[in-house]
Amino acid sequence: MKEATHPKYFVTTVTCACGNSFESGSIKENLRVEICSSCHPFFTGKQKFVDAGGRVDRFKKKYGI
Ligand SMILES: [Zn+2]
Repeated sequence: MKEATHPKYFVTTVTCACGNSFESGSIKENLRVEICSSCHPFFTGKQKFVDAGGRVDRFKKKYGI
């Protein structure tokens, strides 16, 4: 096994824009995300800052929802 064939892999703390943080495996030492499983509407069923600017409304109109 050649070690060089694999990137260095960290267990890192991922920090989300909503303030939630969790540990995850990554090749990066620190990660910042804007959406996580705690605030993504797919997981929460709610709309938070994701629809800022009415993007969701426009999406709904476009598809007649
Ligand atoms: Zn989040």
